[in-house]
Amino acid sequence: MRTAGLIVAAGRGLRLGAPTPKQYQPLGGSTVLAHALRAFLGHPGVAIVRVVIHPDDRRLYDAALDGLDAERLAGLDADRLGPPVAGGATRCASVLAGLEALAQSAPDRVLIHDAARPFLSGRLISAVLDALDGVPAAFPALSVVDALWRATGGAVEAPVERADLWRAQTPQGFRFPEILAAHRGHEGDAADDVAVARAAGLAVRLVPGAEENYKITTAADLDKARRSVGGAMDIRTGNGFDVHAFGLGNSVTLCGVVVPFDRGLVGHSDADVGMHALTDAIFGALGEGDIGHWFPPSDPQWKGVDSAVFLRKAVERATARRFAVTHLDCTLICEAPKIGPHAGAMRAALAAATAIEPDRISVKATTSERLGFTGRGEGIAALATATLVRP
Ligand code: MG
Repeated sequence: MRTAGLIVAAGRGLRLGAPTPKQYQPLGGSTVLAHALRAFLGHPGVAIVRVVIHPDDRRLYDAALDGLDAERLAGLDADRLGPPVAGGATRCASVLAGLEALAQSAPDRVLIHDAARPFLSGRLISAVLDALDGVPAAFPALSVVDALWRATGGAVEAPVERADLWRAQTPQGFRFPEILAAHRGHEGDAADDVAVARAAGLAVRLVPGAEENYKITTAADLDKARRSVGGAMDIRTGNGFDVHAFGLGNSVTLCGVVVPFDRGLVGHSDADVGMHALTDAIFGALGEGDIGHWFPPSDPQWKGVDSAVFLRKAVERATARRFAVTHLDCTLICEAPKIGPHAGAMRAALAAATAIEPDRISVKATTSERLGFTGRGEGIAALATATLVRP
């Protein structure tokens, strides 16, 4: 069974009263749309995902996806995301455009989801997919708990029996050939895809929806969404470790400071073991591989280079993903040279290289009590920890 996800993000969101459509509004360090996308890309049962966008929104869409590429390295399979599909004048026209685009990959089932519902869970996706084993269409819905009244111009007329009424959510799931045929044959617009399926005579089943899977419609909804993710600050730590051997030379470069010594450190770059460990710690916190991934030692352009280039790149990647590097801690392990007299200068050099305040940077040193390769004076090792925070 091959399942596709289709996220409908072509609306203008006029009720929000903001110039930027609601699906592109910032939410918890990314956007409303990116939250919905992550739910689909993170679900093992969804093989391919397409997003239907308004033709004017390509730039907003690309910006909303910033960071997903990096998250692929962190284990999220963004390769399953196909290029965006241009939507039409109505919701139905947009969904049909998306289904026609998906038809090329011939999925068995499709989950059609409103981009303005950022909090769908993997469990809800699974529940809809499970229901599709027995019927051609299924969707999550919630019962109505409030009393319902029909009224005209504020004048109450009659109660409405609520026992059989349900509030529809998305993702709405369908067997793909059936919903494609239903949309192709549908005239005019519809409130959702279940309406299109029913008009085509498809049997539809309800599965229990989730209150947190609400649709962002008004500015108040967006505030509520931001409050609910506000507590979920993303705090990460990464570690780094590096070793360089002593060789010929009359100085070593450690954490950006040239320290006179009777030997040098061997390496492709300036062999700044401290900066290398710190760079790896930041890449580690981001889940973006290591220094060798970004700066292959086989590439001649990094020969003899100032290692601040590597460290700055790691900080840049953190910034691009809206993380602040809030603390760096580096321990240099060697018998000699003495680090203590240079530690202040090293902190200042690291601060200058990264634009991080010096009081958020620590450099310290230890010997290994003459044990091991550092104890025998064969080289210098460095350990580092980086702390990153995304509000
Ligand atoms: Mg190194």
